[in-house]
Amino acid sequence: MPAIICPLCRQLLQRQAKTWSCAQGHSFDVAREGYVNLLPVQHKSSREPGDSAEMVMARRNFLQAGHYQPLRDAALALLAPLGGHSLLDIGCGEGYYTSALTGAAADVTGLDIAKPAIQLAARRFRDITWLVGSAALLPLADASVDIVCSLFSQLQIAEMRRVLQAGGHVLVVTPAPDHLWSVREQLFDAVQPHEPDKFLAGFEGSFELHTRQELRVSLSLTQQGLRQLMMMTPYAWKAKPEKRAALEGRGSFFTEAAFSLMLLRKI
Ligand SMILES: [Zn+2]
Repeated sequence: MPAIICPLCRQLLQRQAKTWSCAQGHSFDVAREGYVNLLPVQHKSSREPGDSAEMVMARRNFLQAGHYQPLRDAALALLAPLGGHSLLDIGCGEGYYTSALTGAAADVTGLDIAKPAIQLAARRFRDITWLVGSAALLPLADASVDIVCSLFSQLQIAEMRRVLQAGGHVLVVTPAPDHLWSVREQLFDAVQPHEPDKFLAGFEGSFELHTRQELRVSLSLTQQGLRQLMMMTPYAWKAKPEKRAALEGRGSFFTEAAFSLMLLRKI
């Protein structure tokens, strides 16, 4: 595993049996499921930050049905040729993408702020290091990983750069301009295109663009699939409740997901 640091004093953590501790005496127990919670109570914005258990289950069931498998395959195809040794997946959720990324690096770590997601991931995939932690203050040492992935999670570019080795890569996946356009048309009076280029601007000066591709995936959803998707996206929370209810009442729905994949190299 990469060099993991104490979230309180930023010194290296050493593992002894079921406990990780630093020279200052801060210690963190390995949970029954095998993950470590490195989110101190004073770094939490709420009692249970991140996705709720209900949202995590909806996401897992949607992904498990294979709707986004082309994205998982595309991410792996971009990363495998890099020959990386250690990979960090930030905002990994219940580990659907992370578990496939063991095909791109021998040493894979998944990090998410949501404990229910990490619990689910750790129960399922044992050969990955699972951490509950903050993307804004990564519990990893400087220059400790070769590849960082961020799929649909908030970008903390300075932290990503800090934990990457020289010449390391970041894979960012964000919605393409017309991602789930027909879903959004049902939810909002006016639909705004997503702006993946906005994210790219944040990397200027410290990263160079290596590869960029757009991936489009047709989705033929049952009512259950549509409801799971609604639980996963921020759109549903912003929509008027009556519009959301009308959409979720549909027996089936056809739409298209569109993703922007950007692979960048640290300079
Ligand atoms: Zn410490």
